[in-house]
Amino acid sequence: MNLLLRSWTTWTCNVFLLLNTITGSFGQYSSGAGYATDEVSTSQIESEPLETGPVLEFKYHDHEEMTRYLRAISARYPALTALYSIGKSVQGRDLWVMVVSASPYEHMIGKPDVKYVANIHGNEAVGRELLLHLIQYLVTAYKTDSYIKWLLDNTRIHLMPSMNPDGFLISREGQCDTVHGRHNARRYDLNRNFPDFFKANTKQPQPETEAVKEWISKIQFVISGSLHGGALVASYPFDNTPSARICRSSVLCSVFQSYAHTPSISPDDDVFRHLALVYSNNHAKMSRGVSCKSGSRSKFEKGITNGAAWYPLTGGMQDYNYLWHGCMEITLEISCCKYPPAHELNKYWQDNKESLIKFLAEAHRGAHGFVMDVNGNPIDRASIRVKGRDVTYHTTKYGEFWRILLPGTYKLEVAAEGYLPQEVEFFVIENHPTLLNVTLHSAKRIDGGPYYRPPPLLARPPPTPSGLFSTLTNSFNSFVSNIFG
Ligand SMILES: [Zn+2]
Repeated sequence: MNLLLRSWTTWTCNVFLLLNTITGSFGQYSSGAGYATDEVSTSQIESEPLETGPVLEFKYHDHEEMTRYLRAISARYPALTALYSIGKSVQGRDLWVMVVSASPYEHMIGKPDVKYVANIHGNEAVGRELLLHLIQYLVTAYKTDSYIKWLLDNTRIHLMPSMNPDGFLISREGQCDTVHGRHNARRYDLNRNFPDFFKANTKQPQPETEAVKEWISKIQFVISGSLHGGALVASYPFDNTPSARICRSSVLCSVFQSYAHTPSISPDDDVFRHLALVYSNNHAKMSRGVSCKSGSRSKFEKGITNGAAWYPLTGGMQDYNYLWHGCMEITLEISCCKYPPAHELNKYWQDNKESLIKFLAEAHRGAHGFVMDVNGNPIDRASIRVKGRDVTYHTTKYGEFWRILLPGTYKLEVAAEGYLPQEVEFFVIENHPTLLNVTLHSAKRIDGGPYYRPPPLLARPPPTPSGLFSTLTNSFNSFVSNIFG
């Protein structure tokens, strides 16, 4: 196969297009995450059987039991796990995150960080337990399963079993459809509490949301799953829609906007659909698109849906991840019953295990690389745009970027203040990520004249998808409850 690089620039540039054989070569570094990890006690290590590690039953774990389990795991597997808290809930419970990776304490330069967040709605309890089982599975399979070893050697997986421990506390096992426990202790819905691109979100920011915002601003997550219950579907951005220009302030209009089954298409719609399908197709039954409620009209073709096409919402976490931080998050509705009996948990784990793993591995799809200056120094906050996709990503302080893309030929536009912008053509193939290193040249003139000023690099908002409202459908007779998910 001819994998020659091709530069679209006329000036001399150093663009290297390689395949998946080069790892970061910047040497040692610190993660920069700034979170203190949990202390490990040696006595805990000695008290656990070496072969199996801490026991994890298929039952619901309250906050204290979960905390004990996470601590025991981090003590048993210090080379594979790190436990940290990103903050506290309204009632002071730690928002725990467990990293599982061959490099749990330090970001691996050039390798992606990924995450799952569960139990955002306190009464949607299955994801919370599944993440504990995912931790257990990853650490125990590392030595015996070559795929898991590859995944952990090349990925830092951050798992937050509960973003809403206060809501979980008052939720009750066996309650499938209620909203009791959904909100945080101040009665805010945390998945309506993020800044919103499309509409002003006037909800008061909550400590749990603030902690997550801070967290994802410090770590460049490439891919993410938000785990919910109450349906069986993988939902992808956008969750919200631009204000409808056809509406002019009538009450009827606002009702219509809230329930219209109108897709809100993101610039990366093809990729998001693919990611949702990876989850759905690897799940035991999600891809069948079976409705949770008998007689319900809402069926999800192949087990996936555009978020807004299901029902639009303001202040959701997935749109925020994508538009603010270039993290491709989808929302995973993994159980028809929000808080099913504990004896069903094993089945939920079996149904979701493959999906949970395969989805995270998608972080290794597409193109990634480094933006550097001519001396090989990383360029922080360079803007990265794939031509035709109206969304801007940015490089990390190590100059890294990731862009999950399906196979094809693309043009990358790279720009940074004080440098000449570059446009580079590259291609993506199915089985290997494309490593794309870009060297930017200073815009300073050789004769000492003034800097060339590149065009403004502000993140441009995603466009209003064309034809958005051409697909408005007859949705008044099929209202979807706004408390799903
Ligand atoms: Zn939910």
